[in-house]
Amino acid sequence: MTETVLIEYQSTLTCPHCGHCETETMAADACQFFYDCKGCDALLRPKEGDCCVFCSYGDIPCPPIQAAQPKGGEECCGG
Ligand SMILES: [Zn+2]
Repeated sequence: MTETVLIEYQSTLTCPHCGHCETETMAADACQFFYDCKGCDALLRPKEGDCCVFCSYGDIPCPPIQAAQPKGGEECCGG
């Protein structure tokens, strides 16, 4: 039995404007900065301090953040 960090590649984004939820697949090594809400067409951007929209609006943070979490990583893509 080895301990592996389970990385989740699907995150459900919730639009702060209209509450629309959409499950999106995340790239393993890239951060998505912009996201077009399919509910109200709002352009979502990460909140201050977050690297991507998944960290701000998703129920699962992006893969680099997940991988860094046990060690308390700070940034995943050098901002
Ligand atoms: Zn919306």
